[in-house]
Amino acid sequence: MKVELNSLKSAPDQAKSFEVELSPPEELKEQVAPVHVKFTAKFTGDGVLVTGDLSTTYHDECHRCLKPAEKQIELDFQEEFLQKEKFYDQDKVQDDANTNKKEVVLEEEELSVDYFSGNELDLTDFLRQLLILAIPPKIVCKDSCPGLCPYCGKDLSKEKCNCGQEEVDPRLVKLRELKKDL
Ligand SMILES: [Zn+2]
Ligand SMILES: [Zn+2]
Repeated sequence: MKVELNSLKSAPDQAKSFEVELSPPEELKEQVAPVHVKFTAKFTGDGVLVTGDLSTTYHDECHRCLKPAEKQIELDFQEEFLQKEKFYDQDKVQDDANTNKKEVVLEEEELSVDYFSGNELDLTDFLRQLLILAIPPKIVCKDSCPGLCPYCGKDLSKEKCNCGQEEVDPRLVKLRELKKDL
């Protein structure tokens, strides 16, 4: 997914809208449906501000009963991508005597700031990272899924078993006896 800087610069006060359907990364293609992304991109003077949302469906097994389960993934994002050349050029102009020092500082900043260079801002890696971070470690087929019996392995949503019934809380037994008396 690429955004052309020149087309944004031609209308600097306007956010341009994009809507795309991306195929999931190769290693997730069995589990993730096509990823629907809607966003706007706007030229900020220093780079491009991208604001939007991403949605898809994630498939995995339910971690309680191990049957197929799915979960809707939806998230909003906003990120400013700075145009690298612009910053390096400015440094050279402002700081000709101390160019080396300034460049060291810039390299450190690069760790936390997203830069791009040239006329094209490629959002592919950024969107892939967002997607990977949004995938839940565990999903359930439904919130009320009772799962499998830890003793006999029966699917408790289909049938009850008698395992673990002797281990009733003694306070509950007392309570039941009291109820009987009433
Ligand atoms: Zn389940
Ligand atoms: Zn059981």
